[in-house]
Amino acid sequence: RAKAEGRRTWRFFESSMAAELQARLAMEADLREALPLNQLEVVYQPIFGLQTNRLAGFEALLRWRHPVRGRVSPAEFIPIMEEIGLIETVGRWVLEQATREAATWPAPLKVAVNLSPLQFRAADIASSMLHVLRESGLAPQRLELEITESALLQADGGVAEVLQAFRSTGIRTSLDDFGTRYSSLSYLLSFPFDKIKIDQAFVREMATRPDCVAIVNSVAHLANQLGMATTAEGVETAEQLRRVREAGCTEAQGYFFGPPESATELRRWFDEPSRSERILQAAL
Ligand code: C2E
Ligand code: MG
Ligand code: MG
Ligand code: MG
Repeated sequence: RAKAEGRRTWRFFESSMAAELQARLAMEADLREALPLNQLEVVYQPIFGLQTNRLAGFEALLRWRHPVRGRVSPAEFIPIMEEIGLIETVGRWVLEQATREAATWPAPLKVAVNLSPLQFRAADIASSMLHVLRESGLAPQRLELEITESALLQADGGVAEVLQAFRSTGIRTSLDDFGTRYSSLSYLLSFPFDKIKIDQAFVREMATRPDCVAIVNSVAHLANQLGMATTAEGVETAEQLRRVREAGCTEAQGYFFGPPESATELRRWFDEPSRSERILQAAL
């Protein structure tokens, strides 16, 4: 009897594994169609300069809207795109869209684009980046590339050289989601980043947790000492804005300023320049 039950349990496992595999394959097939079927969109979230008290630019964020699945989070689909080798094509498309769009914004507004570790591996990444920039007409100084710590671990060597190559062309680089995963201070010695983006996990708790205030203050100070700028991610309230400003962060980004918007919607930031000043004033 035990044997029969064991067999039943095994069959159950087998069929649930088969279902999982099926679901995953369906997801992959849908993702391969996403770009050709026009289901991908790049949206843009405002970033504010805390010393200039002005809009500094926007971060480009990828969106996938599927007719049946609805909106799928990039945190879910980007890792799959990386696994099935789609991210090179899609990442390049994001870069083309974002630079072309940013070239129509008033200078010196910049665009920040997230780069996958796999894109980083391409030997000619710096020169292909310059090619994209030339096609778009955007000055290299107005492009910022965001790279996460996990990307540094996955890229096999040569990262410092690539960052240096970006720097010599005028493109700036940011270390994204700093402090969350395998953050190592030695990254700051080994890799010439221009900016640290302090993860929203620390910013979110600043109103209630003195330890988070201490961390944000220290990272901002450390970056400053190393000649790097800092962006506080996930600023949602006036209180958080006040605290990241006090900490000495160079820039802030989050729902307090605005959510990611379509390329068309964001243009209202340009129609009414005093809008940014009003938002910042409200938080003083
Ligand atoms: P990220 O680069 O750290 O982007 C910031 C994320 O925080 C975005 O999530 C943004 O919508 C969200 N966010 C912004 N302000 C707030 C706030 O005030 N509160 C909260 N709770 N969240 C806020 P999103 O758009 O879902 O993107 C998730 C991640 O997916 C990104 O994290 C980035 O690592 C990745 N990603 C997005 N687009 C691309 C892309 O084109 N290429 C690559 N390689 N990765 C991308
Ligand atoms: Mg980012
Ligand atoms: Mg981030
Ligand atoms: Mg993130």
